[in-house]
Amino acid sequence: MAYRSGFAAIVGRPNVGKSTLLNYIVGQKVSIISDKPQTTRNRISGVKHLPDGQIVFFDTPGIHLAHTHFNQKMVQTALSCIHEVDLVLFVVEPDVVPGEQDTFILDRLRSIKQPKVLVINKIDLIKPSLLMPILDGYGKRGGFSEMIPISAGTGGNVERLVSIAMALMPEGEPYFPEDVVTDQPVRFLASEIIREKVVLKTRHEMPYAVAVSVEEYKEDPVKDRVRMQVTLYVEKESQKGILIGAAGGMLKEIGKAAREELEGLLGVSIYMELWVKVKKDWSRNNRFLKEMGY
Ligand code: GDP
Ligand code: MG
Repeated sequence: MAYRSGFAAIVGRPNVGKSTLLNYIVGQKVSIISDKPQTTRNRISGVKHLPDGQIVFFDTPGIHLAHTHFNQKMVQTALSCIHEVDLVLFVVEPDVVPGEQDTFILDRLRSIKQPKVLVINKIDLIKPSLLMPILDGYGKRGGFSEMIPISAGTGGNVERLVSIAMALMPEGEPYFPEDVVTDQPVRFLASEIIREKVVLKTRHEMPYAVAVSVEEYKEDPVKDRVRMQVTLYVEKESQKGILIGAAGGMLKEIGKAAREELEGLLGVSIYMELWVKVKKDWSRNNRFLKEMGY
């Protein structure tokens, strides 16, 4: 059998479970997850290796009708991706009638020539009898090579989705060696995990105001650990206070959670220093966004 390899974009509106799906497929956290929309900011790659081929998945920021400059940038990142891949996976929630955002994406997908697969996620949340009407609704809009219900949360049917995707990949040589699951540098992975903990721990107090920069990531062979210096940028003095917390408690908690997860992921022990700095209106500062990789 010929070896297949190619690129697949995971697109959809915010919060449908794109990042959860990617992490499940590659079997490791490469993309951060939260129940708050717009957590994924960049294009994140995850590589799935199978005996008969390899798929490089791109997780993308949610596509939505964006109003702020920063959000428009993220939507552009997602949309530019769909023309550069071999396959598009359009992830939706199990709604019988596609909403405004999903209709917007359906329209964007119409013009692309590559195969498209409709992925109906979170089916663990609905009665099985609802599935037929959903498939009918999207089926009528046509254009999908396949439509498949899954649960990225429990892993239900994900294996089948992967084999459908593999069958749609072109024949070709692998792009990555077998031990590579992402092309993200460790530094970036680390900054994303720290950002996830900020969103998780500060909950409703802190919206999307934090950018994370790993200033130093150094292996220390003598102490047999990695030393990290990290700066968290916020937009206002008041946000700095929230992030640091009473007696530095919040920052400590964020650091501890991030460190533990990274140590598990990388298999090394980590010494992490976190600093908080105010960078006024960073999300509207083009040069800063570029520096941060957005
Ligand atoms: P994204 O914005 O599309 O990347 O969505 P995320 O992967 O960050 O997930 C958004 C929320 O949906 C998180 O709270 C996930 O835990 C949840 N979620 C993802 N997949 C499933 C699923 O299959 N079932 C259920 N019940 N929840 C899910
Ligand atoms: Mg995401």
